[in-house]
Amino acid sequence: MNKIRFRTKPFWLRWLTGPRTWVAIAPCIYHPKGKDPSLHPALIEHEKTHIAQQRAKGLYKWLFRYLTSKKFRLHQEVEAIAVEIANTPAKERSWLAHEYASQLAGKQYRRAAPCAWAALEMIKNEVRRLEGGQQNGKI
Ligand SMILES: [Zn+2]
Repeated sequence: MNKIRFRTKPFWLRWLTGPRTWVAIAPCIYHPKGKDPSLHPALIEHEKTHIAQQRAKGLYKWLFRYLTSKKFRLHQEVEAIAVEIANTPAKERSWLAHEYASQLAGKQYRRAAPCAWAALEMIKNEVRRLEGGQQNGKI
């Protein structure tokens, strides 16, 4: 993968997405003020997945579809969340999956998923697919 740059979120991105979220806009990963990216390796893998998605589709086309299509947003997030979970210690995976599932059905992802249960099933399936159906793919 080409070079990725880490940046503190500028004011306009904090205004658009709130102070606490991480945002990937290739080639940059924007993190909340005061966060050290090196302390969040699984989250970095999540954001790197979005950068790979943006590079595969074209950044502007990806951003447009992400902002306008719930279905597209949901699929892009499920893929990135599964990568993050695969890079997360086993004891924290279930909490993380449930947290993201409720966020995907909520305001933060503008109700990309119809409900948290459906999002959780999609996340579990994607983690299983990613890890080739291995036992440690369980969350
Ligand atoms: Zn994401």
